[in-house]
Amino acid sequence: MQNGLYIVATPIGNLGDLSPRAKETLANAEVIACEDTRITKKLFALLNISTTGKKFIVYQNYNEEDEAQNIINLAINDKKSIALVSDAGSPLISDPGYKLIRRAREQNVPVTVLPGCCALICALQLSGLPTNRFLFAGFIPNKDKARADTLNEVRDTKATIVFYETAQRIVKTLTAAAKIFGNREMAVAREISKVYEECVNGTAAKLIEYFSSKEPKGEMVLMIAPADEKDFSTLDIENLMRQKMAEMPLKSAVKEMVAVYGLNKNEMYELALKLKNE
Ligand code: SAM
Repeated sequence: MQNGLYIVATPIGNLGDLSPRAKETLANAEVIACEDTRITKKLFALLNISTTGKKFIVYQNYNEEDEAQNIINLAINDKKSIALVSDAGSPLISDPGYKLIRRAREQNVPVTVLPGCCALICALQLSGLPTNRFLFAGFIPNKDKARADTLNEVRDTKATIVFYETAQRIVKTLTAAAKIFGNREMAVAREISKVYEECVNGTAAKLIEYFSSKEPKGEMVLMIAPADEKDFSTLDIENLMRQKMAEMPLKSAVKEMVAVYGLNKNEMYELALKLKNE
Protein backbone atom coordinates (compact mmCIF):
# COMPACT_ATOMS: atom_id res chain seq x y z
CA MET A 1 0.00 0.00 0.00
CA GLN A 2 1.29 3.48 -0.85
CA ASN A 3 2.79 5.44 2.01
CA GLY A 4 0.63 8.17 3.49
CA LEU A 5 -2.39 8.71 5.64
CA TYR A 6 -5.67 6.86 5.20
CA ILE A 7 -8.66 8.29 7.09
CA VAL A 8 -10.86 5.28 7.78
CA ALA A 9 -14.38 5.52 9.21
CA THR A 10 -15.38 2.56 11.37
CA PRO A 11 -18.92 1.33 12.29
CA ILE A 12 -20.99 3.16 14.92
CA GLY A 13 -22.91 0.10 16.03
CA ASN A 14 -23.10 -2.49 13.30
CA LEU A 15 -19.96 -4.25 12.15
CA GLY A 16 -21.53 -4.93 8.77
CA ASP A 17 -21.31 -1.24 7.94
CA LEU A 18 -17.56 -1.34 7.37
CA SER A 19 -16.88 -1.33 3.64
CA PRO A 20 -14.70 -4.01 2.02
CA ARG A 21 -12.25 -1.26 0.98
CA ALA A 22 -12.01 0.02 4.57
CA LYS A 23 -11.39 -3.53 5.81
CA GLU A 24 -8.68 -4.07 3.21
CA THR A 25 -7.05 -0.77 4.14
CA LEU A 26 -7.04 -1.64 7.84
CA ALA A 27 -5.60 -5.06 7.03
CA ASN A 28 -2.81 -3.65 4.86
CA ALA A 29 -1.87 -0.50 6.81
CA GLU A 30 1.44 -0.85 8.63
CA VAL A 31 0.62 1.71 11.30
CA ILE A 32 -2.74 2.33 13.01
CA ALA A 33 -3.23 5.69 14.69
CA CYS A 34 -6.20 5.33 17.05
CA GLU A 35 -7.78 6.85 20.14
CA ASP A 36 -7.69 3.72 22.28
CA THR A 37 -5.64 0.67 21.26
CA ARG A 38 -7.90 -1.68 23.26
CA ILE A 39 -11.01 -0.59 21.37
CA THR A 40 -9.33 -0.69 17.97
CA LYS A 41 -7.66 -4.06 18.59
CA LYS A 42 -11.06 -5.41 19.60
CA LEU A 43 -12.47 -4.17 16.29
CA PHE A 44 -9.61 -5.87 14.44
CA ALA A 45 -10.36 -9.12 16.28
CA LEU A 46 -14.05 -8.91 15.34
CA LEU A 47 -13.06 -8.31 11.73
CA ASN A 48 -10.53 -11.17 11.79
CA ILE A 49 -7.70 -8.82 10.89
CA SER A 50 -4.33 -9.82 12.27
CA THR A 51 -2.52 -7.21 14.36
CA THR A 52 0.83 -9.01 14.08
CA GLY A 53 3.55 -6.72 12.79
CA LYS A 54 1.35 -3.63 12.98
CA LYS A 55 2.34 -0.63 15.04
CA PHE A 56 -0.50 0.93 17.05
CA ILE A 57 -0.07 4.56 18.05
CA VAL A 58 -2.37 6.32 20.48
CA TYR A 59 -3.48 9.57 18.90
CA GLN A 60 -5.65 11.56 21.31
CA ASN A 61 -6.65 15.15 21.92
CA TYR A 62 -4.12 15.42 24.74
CA ASN A 63 -1.10 14.31 22.64
CA GLU A 64 -2.26 15.49 19.20
CA GLU A 65 0.44 18.17 18.86
CA ASP A 66 3.29 15.87 19.96
CA GLU A 67 2.23 12.77 18.09
CA ALA A 68 1.25 14.40 14.77
CA GLN A 69 4.83 14.96 13.60
CA ASN A 70 5.94 11.48 14.71
CA ILE A 71 3.18 9.94 12.60
CA ILE A 72 4.05 12.14 9.62
CA ASN A 73 7.74 11.19 9.94
CA LEU A 74 6.76 7.54 9.69
CA ALA A 75 5.08 8.30 6.37
CA ILE A 76 7.92 10.48 5.02
CA ASN A 77 11.08 8.78 6.36
CA ASP A 78 9.95 5.16 6.70
CA LYS A 79 7.46 5.22 3.81
CA LYS A 80 4.78 3.76 6.06
CA SER A 81 1.07 3.50 5.30
CA ILE A 82 -0.92 4.80 8.26
CA ALA A 83 -4.62 4.31 8.93
CA LEU A 84 -6.24 6.92 11.16
CA VAL A 85 -9.31 5.62 12.99
CA SER A 86 -11.35 6.79 15.96
CA ASP A 87 -13.15 4.58 18.49
CA ALA A 88 -16.20 4.60 16.23
CA GLY A 89 -17.49 6.57 13.26
CA SER A 90 -15.67 9.17 11.21
CA PRO A 91 -12.31 10.35 12.49
CA LEU A 92 -11.97 14.14 12.94
CA ILE A 93 -15.69 14.69 13.58
CA SER A 94 -15.77 15.52 17.30
CA ASP A 95 -12.72 13.26 17.36
CA PRO A 96 -9.00 14.00 17.04
CA GLY A 97 -7.28 14.22 13.66
CA TYR A 98 -7.54 17.55 11.92
CA LYS A 99 -4.16 18.81 13.15
CA LEU A 100 -2.52 15.66 11.85
CA ILE A 101 -4.18 15.97 8.44
CA ARG A 102 -3.33 19.66 8.22
CA ARG A 103 0.34 19.02 8.92
CA ALA A 104 0.46 16.04 6.59
CA ARG A 105 -0.91 18.10 3.72
CA GLU A 106 1.49 20.96 4.46
CA GLN A 107 4.36 18.46 4.19
CA ASN A 108 3.02 16.85 1.00
CA VAL A 109 2.25 13.52 2.62
CA PRO A 110 -0.43 11.73 0.57
CA VAL A 111 -3.78 11.81 2.39
CA THR A 112 -6.92 9.99 1.36
CA VAL A 113 -10.29 9.32 2.97
CA LEU A 114 -12.40 6.18 2.97
CA PRO A 115 -16.02 7.28 3.38
CA GLY A 116 -18.12 5.58 6.01
CA CYS A 117 -20.35 5.96 9.07
CA CYS A 118 -20.78 9.37 10.60
CA ALA A 119 -23.34 9.64 13.41
CA LEU A 120 -24.40 13.19 12.60
CA ILE A 121 -25.18 12.41 8.96
CA CYS A 122 -27.12 9.25 9.84
CA ALA A 123 -29.07 11.19 12.50
CA LEU A 124 -29.97 13.94 10.05
CA GLN A 125 -31.13 11.39 7.52
CA LEU A 126 -33.41 9.81 10.11
CA SER A 127 -34.79 13.05 11.53
CA GLY A 128 -37.01 14.29 8.72
CA LEU A 129 -35.67 17.79 9.46
CA PRO A 130 -34.32 19.91 6.58
CA THR A 131 -30.97 18.67 5.36
CA ASN A 132 -30.20 21.26 2.68
CA ARG A 133 -28.41 23.39 5.29
CA PHE A 134 -27.19 22.24 8.67
CA LEU A 135 -24.83 23.37 11.36
CA PHE A 136 -22.92 20.73 13.24
CA ALA A 137 -22.09 22.23 16.62
CA GLY A 138 -20.28 19.29 18.28
CA PHE A 139 -20.90 18.40 21.91
CA ILE A 140 -23.00 20.69 24.09
CA PRO A 141 -21.03 21.95 27.11
CA ASN A 142 -21.94 20.38 30.44
CA LYS A 143 -21.92 23.50 32.64
CA ASP A 144 -25.27 25.31 32.93
CA LYS A 145 -24.09 28.72 31.75
CA ALA A 146 -21.93 27.39 28.91
CA ARG A 147 -24.81 25.15 27.80
CA ALA A 148 -27.27 28.06 27.74
CA ASP A 149 -24.71 30.29 25.96
CA THR A 150 -24.15 27.66 23.27
CA LEU A 151 -27.87 27.18 22.68
CA ASN A 152 -28.47 30.94 22.57
CA GLU A 153 -25.62 31.35 20.13
CA VAL A 154 -27.25 29.05 17.56
CA ARG A 155 -30.89 30.01 18.27
CA ASP A 156 -31.38 32.14 15.15
CA THR A 157 -29.43 29.89 12.79
CA LYS A 158 -31.37 29.31 9.59
CA ALA A 159 -30.20 25.73 9.31
CA THR A 160 -30.87 22.50 11.16
CA ILE A 161 -28.61 22.47 14.21
CA VAL A 162 -26.96 19.19 15.15
CA PHE A 163 -25.35 18.38 18.49
CA TYR A 164 -23.72 15.26 19.85
CA GLU A 165 -25.18 14.47 23.26
CA THR A 166 -25.11 11.76 25.91
CA ALA A 167 -27.94 9.88 27.59
CA GLN A 168 -26.92 11.25 31.01
CA ARG A 169 -27.23 14.86 29.88
CA ILE A 170 -30.07 14.89 27.35
CA VAL A 171 -32.84 15.88 29.79
CA LYS A 172 -30.77 18.76 31.22
CA THR A 173 -30.05 19.95 27.70
CA LEU A 174 -33.70 19.67 26.62
CA THR A 175 -34.75 21.59 29.73
CA ALA A 176 -32.39 24.42 28.82
CA ALA A 177 -33.45 24.18 25.16
CA ALA A 178 -37.15 24.46 26.06
CA LYS A 179 -36.53 27.95 27.49
CA ILE A 180 -34.58 29.10 24.45
CA PHE A 181 -36.36 27.38 21.55
CA GLY A 182 -39.94 27.22 22.88
CA ASN A 183 -42.05 25.15 20.53
CA ARG A 184 -39.39 24.63 17.87
CA GLU A 185 -39.34 21.09 16.49
CA MET A 186 -36.43 18.94 17.64
CA ALA A 187 -35.37 15.35 17.12
CA VAL A 188 -33.27 12.92 19.10
CA ALA A 189 -31.76 10.02 17.18
CA ARG A 190 -30.20 7.32 19.30
CA GLU A 191 -28.49 3.96 19.02
CA ILE A 192 -28.17 4.34 15.26
CA SER A 193 -27.47 1.04 13.48
CA LYS A 194 -28.01 -0.88 16.74
CA VAL A 195 -30.95 -3.01 17.92
CA TYR A 196 -32.75 -0.16 19.71
CA GLU A 197 -32.26 2.49 17.05
CA GLU A 198 -34.93 5.19 17.17
CA CYS A 199 -35.55 8.79 16.26
CA VAL A 200 -38.09 10.81 18.25
CA ASN A 201 -39.38 14.19 17.10
CA GLY A 202 -41.23 16.85 19.10
CA THR A 203 -40.80 20.07 21.02
CA ALA A 204 -38.27 20.09 23.86
CA ALA A 205 -41.19 19.73 26.31
CA LYS A 206 -42.53 16.68 24.45
CA LEU A 207 -39.10 15.08 24.34
CA ILE A 208 -38.60 15.66 28.09
CA GLU A 209 -41.95 13.97 28.64
CA TYR A 210 -40.85 11.09 26.42
CA PHE A 211 -37.57 10.59 28.26
CA SER A 212 -39.22 10.76 31.66
CA SER A 213 -41.40 7.81 30.75
CA LYS A 214 -38.56 5.99 29.00
CA GLU A 215 -35.10 6.31 30.54
CA PRO A 216 -32.69 7.80 27.98
CA LYS A 217 -30.04 5.26 27.06
CA GLY A 218 -27.24 4.86 24.56
CA GLU A 219 -25.51 7.24 22.21
CA MET A 220 -27.57 10.10 20.86
CA VAL A 221 -27.70 13.07 18.54
CA LEU A 222 -29.90 16.10 19.20
CA MET A 223 -31.20 18.10 16.24
CA ILE A 224 -33.12 21.38 16.22
CA ALA A 225 -35.16 22.64 13.26
CA PRO A 226 -33.96 25.83 11.51
CA ALA A 227 -35.05 29.15 12.98
CA ASP A 228 -37.08 30.00 9.90
CA GLU A 229 -38.61 26.57 9.44
CA LYS A 230 -40.73 25.46 12.38
CA ASP A 231 -40.42 28.09 15.02
CA PHE A 232 -43.79 28.31 16.70
CA SER A 233 -42.99 31.33 18.79
CA THR A 234 -46.08 33.24 20.03
CA LEU A 235 -45.69 35.74 17.24
CA ASP A 236 -45.60 33.07 14.53
CA ILE A 237 -48.60 31.27 15.91
CA GLU A 238 -50.54 34.55 15.89
CA ASN A 239 -49.49 35.24 12.32
CA LEU A 240 -50.39 31.75 11.19
CA MET A 241 -53.78 32.02 12.88
CA ARG A 242 -54.40 35.41 11.26
CA GLN A 243 -53.65 33.93 7.84
CA LYS A 244 -55.97 30.99 8.43
CA MET A 245 -58.76 33.27 9.69
CA ALA A 246 -58.44 35.35 6.56
CA GLU A 247 -58.91 32.22 4.47
CA MET A 248 -61.64 30.33 6.38
CA PRO A 249 -64.21 30.52 9.20
CA LEU A 250 -62.90 30.81 12.76
CA LYS A 251 -63.76 27.24 13.74
CA SER A 252 -62.00 25.80 10.69
CA ALA A 253 -58.95 27.96 11.37
CA VAL A 254 -58.74 26.59 14.92
CA LYS A 255 -59.18 23.05 13.62
CA GLU A 256 -56.36 23.51 11.11
CA MET A 257 -53.96 24.99 13.65
CA VAL A 258 -54.55 22.01 15.93
CA ALA A 259 -54.28 19.43 13.15
CA VAL A 260 -51.32 20.89 11.26
CA TYR A 261 -49.17 22.22 14.09
CA GLY A 262 -50.25 20.00 16.98
CA LEU A 263 -51.29 22.99 19.09
CA ASN A 264 -53.75 22.99 21.99
CA LYS A 265 -57.40 23.32 20.88
CA ASN A 266 -58.60 25.53 23.75
CA GLU A 267 -55.59 27.82 23.47
CA MET A 268 -56.12 28.15 19.74
CA TYR A 269 -59.80 28.93 20.24
CA GLU A 270 -58.96 31.66 22.76
CA LEU A 271 -56.35 33.07 20.41
CA ALA A 272 -58.82 33.10 17.52
CA LEU A 273 -61.39 34.98 19.61
CA LYS A 274 -58.74 37.47 20.75
CA LEU A 275 -57.64 38.13 17.17
CA LYS A 276 -61.26 38.42 15.99
CA ASN A 277 -61.95 41.12 18.61
CA GLU A 278 -58.82 43.10 17.85
N1 SAM B 1 -16.67 10.78 15.03
C1 SAM B 1 -17.85 10.07 15.35
C2 SAM B 1 -18.86 10.23 14.21
O1 SAM B 1 -18.97 11.32 13.70
O2 SAM B 1 -19.56 9.26 13.89
C3 SAM B 1 -18.48 10.58 16.63
C4 SAM B 1 -17.58 10.57 17.81
S1 SAM B 1 -18.18 11.41 19.18
C5 SAM B 1 -16.85 11.23 20.27
C6 SAM B 1 -19.37 10.32 19.87
C7 SAM B 1 -20.79 10.84 19.78
O3 SAM B 1 -21.33 10.52 18.50
C8 SAM B 1 -21.75 10.22 20.77
O4 SAM B 1 -21.71 10.88 22.03
C9 SAM B 1 -23.09 10.43 20.09
O5 SAM B 1 -23.53 11.75 20.25
C10 SAM B 1 -22.71 10.22 18.62
N2 SAM B 1 -22.89 8.81 18.24
C11 SAM B 1 -21.95 7.88 18.04
N3 SAM B 1 -22.50 6.69 17.71
C12 SAM B 1 -23.83 6.88 17.70
C13 SAM B 1 -24.96 6.04 17.45
N4 SAM B 1 -24.82 4.76 17.13
N5 SAM B 1 -26.19 6.58 17.53
C14 SAM B 1 -26.37 7.88 17.84
N6 SAM B 1 -25.34 8.71 18.11
C15 SAM B 1 -24.10 8.23 18.03
